[in-house]
Amino acid sequence: MKFNTKTIHAGQTPEKTTGAVMPPIFQTSTYIQDAPNVHQGYDYARVANPTRTALEKLIAGLEGAEHAACFASGVAAMDALMKQFRPGDHIITTNDIYGGSYRLFREVFEPYGIEFSFIDMTHLENVENEIKPATKLIWIETPTNPLLRIVDIQKIVAIARSNSIMTAVDNTFASPYLQQPLELGADVVMHSTTKYLGGHSDVIGGALATSNTDIMDKIRFQVKTSGAVPGPMDCYLTLRGIKTLAVRVERSVENAKKIAEYLKQNPKTGDVFYPGLSNHPQHEIAKKQMKDFGAMVSFSLKSCDIESAINFMKKTRIFTLAESLGGVESLISHPASMTHGSIPKKVREKAGLKDSLMRLSVGIEDAEDLLKDLEQAF
Ligand SMILES: *Cc1c(COP(=O)(O)O)cnc(C)c1O
Repeated sequence: MKFNTKTIHAGQTPEKTTGAVMPPIFQTSTYIQDAPNVHQGYDYARVANPTRTALEKLIAGLEGAEHAACFASGVAAMDALMKQFRPGDHIITTNDIYGGSYRLFREVFEPYGIEFSFIDMTHLENVENEIKPATKLIWIETPTNPLLRIVDIQKIVAIARSNSIMTAVDNTFASPYLQQPLELGADVVMHSTTKYLGGHSDVIGGALATSNTDIMDKIRFQVKTSGAVPGPMDCYLTLRGIKTLAVRVERSVENAKKIAEYLKQNPKTGDVFYPGLSNHPQHEIAKKQMKDFGAMVSFSLKSCDIESAINFMKKTRIFTLAESLGGVESLISHPASMTHGSIPKKVREKAGLKDSLMRLSVGIEDAEDLLKDLEQAF
């Protein structure tokens, strides 16, 4: 099956007892057993639920993975993967990373004795220099947040493989429609299904997918033991959202390209960060590893102060000021005071994050209306 067909059909078969075409919401915590431990594959819903199984098969299909496991949130999925590491283990990750991932690594797993290196992975020698005998995982996020840098998945995987290190990719910003990390050699792919997969800003969820059975056994052990599982209604909403993933992402990207071009030629903007612009430093890598350039665009104003940015965001009407991304509606956010507010100004600016930087999650509205909205805000 090709990708668009998979979004509708992967893991989906009409329900056997009634012929329901859509996967039912199995709102149950337990299942009848004919004799102790003799059942139809389901014994207790923390371990498994048929609505969740349908979603897991669908996500595995989209990522070209043998297995997938779904969680109550994106960070719960990451938490389940991280729990297979032990005190003394070392993990390399990027310095331009989702704020919640940074907090999980720094404030939950570091105190348990796992060591993290946060580096700029756009320079491969930085990765090579960080590797030591205790290094067990390279955690890649690409495109990065909020500066939309692109990390070369294949090249990092090659370095990791030659050192017997596992690689995992947070594929949330790209979505499986635009980027297939397992095909590029990564061992594990992670999603906040809250974003493009769900696509409608109405559900929180996460997923891990892999073709490595040993890794998935450890993940399933965490599903059963730590139990950060999604409810069947949330799985259903995500299943429903995924059906339109391809068309939603296609339209969002089309809009994002127009907006990036508009911002680039606007004398009132400073920097414009979009991997699809030919002057983006990793434009060629994005072209190589992504089907298209995504629908996230960041830009700063010519005047670099925080007040101008705040005024701008107060004025947009269609772009809603809110955290999150990947929904059908366009959002605008202010990383310096919202997602990255806990990072000191000096450290932020050293990483290239200016106070007037704004991040757009471009939705599927008419491009003309989105452009007009930005124009009146300027
Ligand atoms: C939102 C997000 C997460 C966390 O997912 P939740 O569903 O909010 O727990 C992780 N990584 C990235 C890139 C995200 O955007």
